[in-house]
Amino acid sequence: MKVYELSAVAIREKVAAGEIKARAIVDELLARIDEFDGEIGAFVSVDHAAVRARADIIDAQVAAGNTAGRLLGVPVAIKDNICVEDVTTTCSSRMLETFRPPYSAHVIKKLLAEGAIIIGKTNLDEFAMGSSTENSALQQTRNPWNKEYVPGGSSGGSAAAVAAGFAPLALGSDTGGSIRQPASYCGVVGMKPTYGAVSRYGLVAFGSSLDQIGPFARTVEDAALLLDVISGADDHDSTSATDKLPLSLEYTADMNGLCIGLPSEYFNTEGLSAEVKDAVLAAVDRLKEAGAEVKEVHLPMVKYAVGTYYIIATAEASSNLARFDGVHYGHRCEKPEDIIDLFSRSREEGFGDEVKRRIMLGNYVLSAGYYDAYYNRALKVRRRIADDFAKAFAEVDIIAAPAAPTTAFKIGEKASDPLAMYLSDIYTISANLAGIPGLCVPCGQDSQGLPVGLQLLSSNFKDDLLFKASYAVNSGNVGIAF
Ligand code: GLN
Repeated sequence: MKVYELSAVAIREKVAAGEIKARAIVDELLARIDEFDGEIGAFVSVDHAAVRARADIIDAQVAAGNTAGRLLGVPVAIKDNICVEDVTTTCSSRMLETFRPPYSAHVIKKLLAEGAIIIGKTNLDEFAMGSSTENSALQQTRNPWNKEYVPGGSSGGSAAAVAAGFAPLALGSDTGGSIRQPASYCGVVGMKPTYGAVSRYGLVAFGSSLDQIGPFARTVEDAALLLDVISGADDHDSTSATDKLPLSLEYTADMNGLCIGLPSEYFNTEGLSAEVKDAVLAAVDRLKEAGAEVKEVHLPMVKYAVGTYYIIATAEASSNLARFDGVHYGHRCEKPEDIIDLFSRSREEGFGDEVKRRIMLGNYVLSAGYYDAYYNRALKVRRRIADDFAKAFAEVDIIAAPAAPTTAFKIGEKASDPLAMYLSDIYTISANLAGIPGLCVPCGQDSQGLPVGLQLLSSNFKDDLLFKASYAVNSGNVGIAF
């Protein structure tokens, strides 16, 4: 097995046993990135010298007998909206092109404490707003399975990095599907934990009541291990849960005693491709063979999820992004005439079209006169969606559904049609509104060889069930794109 094919679990074992040096691992991965990332565009920054220096520190620790780290010598790619101290954190925006955070996110501190190596920062749709990574102000990321196609988004760089064998693990953020949808398009495991399971401290905020950081990996165990390392309470995030997620970390393909629900609303939607539907239902059959019971469930309110999300997420974004004013953070225009000119020109120059669209929409739904009609009503619908899931989970343990209505689409295909783009998240958004965990696991390919993802959902803090079920669908290595 080549170094770039190794799982995180295997790398950790080999480094701890002294079989391979962390330095040798990063040298090989950096060489692969140098060779192929010019075409893929997964990374917005890779600091070769810093990566090598960090690997040498890990090797010195191992030589001194300190092999305790649970991610010892394991390279992890980080979405560029997660702060790493003194490393440029751009959010793929002109606004933050030169921003160097003075502190690291909670998840980064956790990774480093376990011996991980941050291999680079990955591309995203600007401020995580988008579904194809085409909204990045910095570069285009291509799907490693077919370079004419998008990798999905907004965590497209992280998903592509794992699929291309640039790193065994990556972190993304998911506000409405930004981990699960690119995982589906790139054929890797991607997971949005229960809201509150992972601290958001140091994640540049988009929709604070929806955002969660989560793992990408090529195996189910690797994804679970990464989540186990990053989850847990944090005093810096008052929404982080006090109880740590219980994760078993070792899985068997045994679904006896578990009941899977198939929501009719998710399978009868217009726009669901027949190939995706067939692959997802074949995966459900594998769950049945592994012992699961399967029955139909109903989620009548999810048809309002996309509309509700684009009110709540934009409202929160408009207020979160108010801080980028040319004074506190980020881009400042040249020679402002007065304070109003400073604010408006800095924002005009710093933000791209999609971000501006969201800010305008968010300000509109929050404005006096429309607040009750839109924002408050959306909050009520959000509660009804969460109630639908609660009712369904009284009957079943896990809900199975497609992760996205189609496989990856071509670069440029939806770029000028925001509504078509918004609809690619039709299956993922409701989990963020309800706060429940969701996982996407590869379950097949379409006739063009593009990956299809199965989405699994469970009730709050039952994240481990998702790893268990995804293991029964796809016990492991989902393969590298090339
Ligand atoms: N695609 C959705 C959006 O554009 C979700 C993005 C995300 O999860 N960050 O808002």
